[in-house]
Amino acid sequence: MSLLVDNIGELTTHGPQGTLTAAALVVQDGTVAWTGPAGAAPAADRRIDAGGGAVIPGFVDSHTHLVFAGDRAAEFAARMAGEPYTGGGIRTTVAATRAATDAELRAGLARRYTEALRQGTTTIEVKSGYGLDVAGEVRLLRLAGEVTGETTFLGAHVVPAGTGAAEYVSLVTGDMLAAAAPYARWVDVFCERGAFDVDQARTVLRAGMAAGLLPRIHANQLHPGGGVALAVELGAASADHCTHLSTSDIDALAGSGTVATLLPGAEFSTRSPYPDAAALLRAGAVVALATDCNPGSSYTTSMALCIALGVREMGMSPAQALWSATAGGARALRRDDVGHLGIGARADLVVLDAPSHLHLAYRPGVPLVRTVLHNGTPVPTATDGTVAGTTTAPPPGRPGAYPSGAWT
Ligand SMILES: [Zn+2]
Repeated sequence: MSLLVDNIGELTTHGPQGTLTAAALVVQDGTVAWTGPAGAAPAADRRIDAGGGAVIPGFVDSHTHLVFAGDRAAEFAARMAGEPYTGGGIRTTVAATRAATDAELRAGLARRYTEALRQGTTTIEVKSGYGLDVAGEVRLLRLAGEVTGETTFLGAHVVPAGTGAAEYVSLVTGDMLAAAAPYARWVDVFCERGAFDVDQARTVLRAGMAAGLLPRIHANQLHPGGGVALAVELGAASADHCTHLSTSDIDALAGSGTVATLLPGAEFSTRSPYPDAAALLRAGAVVALATDCNPGSSYTTSMALCIALGVREMGMSPAQALWSATAGGARALRRDDVGHLGIGARADLVVLDAPSHLHLAYRPGVPLVRTVLHNGTPVPTATDGTVAGTTTAPPPGRPGAYPSGAWT
């Protein structure tokens, strides 16, 4: 099956072809097979008219906590009224999640996953971390694995009430890791005052690596500390948050293969100072943007919001922010098949109801996603299940240009 996306006003590929105007793109068997000038496109079985809108790679959200139960809207309201964020509310979600049935957790996950996909997120990482016991963590990873291959074991999210930190680290690196590892690709730890210190974080990540998982870390979110240095020391794919960085942290990231993943939804929702993306970019670090979607500190699935915040609050250009939300996220997940629209990439793309990618930041809060392709297949973006802009009919003026099966 082939599919032509035609009449593209601006096509951002993040590949060798860069950005094209008056462009078209052909998908064959779920991957990008051709990009170029609109008039020169080969025929295809189906056609999507982009209506002169911009086409961008699907968003890669490399940091979410999407499986949970409960609601912390009251905590948010209290914070907006002046109470500080400490991370302690995680235990509230742990209690609600433990009390929920599999069916309830699956329904909530599906709702948020669909919400993200409709907004253009075509690759998503999902962490555990609200079980905090062996069976609970395995349950969350199994459910996460039903929607994504990018699953992360975050048993070391916070020390559960009534347990000593040393005792809990032993559990996380012992029985819990052994049970969780078959269901996870990544291992993560919340390295922060009140959660796990640098030595404990190193112990958790090294144990995960020994079990075949790849390391990533929550680092330097609420305070300066050694989390980013640890990420670089261990060759982690990503250090996430990076809100409180020293000059040596920035230099270490810039000289490493570790991506700095910034999560501005957390600063927005906790009314905290934003990380300095411009300083990281100036130093040469690779920067990703992700939502950190979770019920406590960043309950958003909107990558477009993260782009707008990156531009407005963190010193990124719109093009840098878009790259970070797509190709940057892919780098943070060590993926080269997503986050770009070069030939051979997975055909994950977003047609915007806007003439250029600039509108993602220029028109914050406006639903600009018109059509989403995931693995080359249009996904419903409207609540009635319809897919905007799709047709199997030939375009006007080019009769017979798209006979079924003619281009294989
Ligand atoms: Zn997080």
